[in-house]
Amino acid sequence: MITRSSALLQRPDSPSVDVMPLTLPSAWQTQLSQAIRDPRELCRRLGLDDAWLPGAERGHALFEIRVPEAFLARMRHGDPNDPLLHQVLPLAAEGESVPGYVTDPLAEAEHTSGPGLIHKYNGRVLLIASPACAVNCRYCFRRHFPYADNSPSRAQWERSLETLHNDPSIHEAILSGGDPLAASDRQLAWLIERLEAIPHLKRLRLHTRLPVVIPDRVDDALLGWLGATRLQKVVVLHINHANEIDKAVIDACARLKAAGATLLNQSVLLRNVNDSVDALAQLSERLFEAGVLPYYLHVLDPVAGAAHFDVPDEEARELVAGLREELPGFLLPRLVREIPGEASKTPL
Ligand code: SF4
Repeated sequence: MITRSSALLQRPDSPSVDVMPLTLPSAWQTQLSQAIRDPRELCRRLGLDDAWLPGAERGHALFEIRVPEAFLARMRHGDPNDPLLHQVLPLAAEGESVPGYVTDPLAEAEHTSGPGLIHKYNGRVLLIASPACAVNCRYCFRRHFPYADNSPSRAQWERSLETLHNDPSIHEAILSGGDPLAASDRQLAWLIERLEAIPHLKRLRLHTRLPVVIPDRVDDALLGWLGATRLQKVVVLHINHANEIDKAVIDACARLKAAGATLLNQSVLLRNVNDSVDALAQLSERLFEAGVLPYYLHVLDPVAGAAHFDVPDEEARELVAGLREELPGFLLPRLVREIPGEASKTPL
């Protein structure tokens, strides 16, 4: 039987000696490479009116479109108001300059201690494990991030690991990106092995959207290194609407839990996506059905190109007050803003 991640091909004339290793892409890697990257294709597949196309092409020129098939399949055909579509459809408004909206809204450049190493908070560091994402979310605060300067070579990784090794105050490593799970399992297994050799490191946290947009990412290879590490594991998913959680996502979450991961979710409060008490309540309920606890509800980071997603603070507080009346406390996410230079997220 040929496995997808590592196959052996045998020549029929000499099977005993001519065994040639061949690496085939995993199912998720194939899906990643086949993601939609053309606004015209997205509009055509969803049966959208041609009137959406000029704006989509303008936004795409600023931040390229990327939508995997498994995520597309959860959108309603012919509905330009679909809450999943809103998260990925480029708009002409992304080209408007809006006061206060900047390219590095969290001032991450000031906290970068080396290529791919960001140290913002006490006790934990963030490693950019991959510059790529499986989906390009239009509101992303890293849509202008200089990934080219933060894609470490092996030697640079060694220096970052050395930094962690020499700082006993660091107890948690956060793998981020891009999406850390866009890296290959071979690379991730190498990195985790190096991290777990640092004696004062207790926890490994993954910030990822891949198990949501391509649930097949949670395959045996991933579960192998995740399940084997001595580090406590926290997977923080990023889901903004209940419609993102289908059976395949629920199954992927179950596999992550079985590997010993604690599952949390962070959402962004987004205009025309989840800006109602009903939408937020359904999201929390659906997350819990998938075994995931709501963790943060972030207000939008003021990144250039995303101002049309903003929900004012007062409205955000009212929504959460309404949500509090609907849900038990453990399903209520914390409404927060990240303010550059603060020692933690700031509750609203
Ligand atoms: S980093 Fe997260 S929010 Fe930003 S584009 Fe990638 S998946 Fe979306």
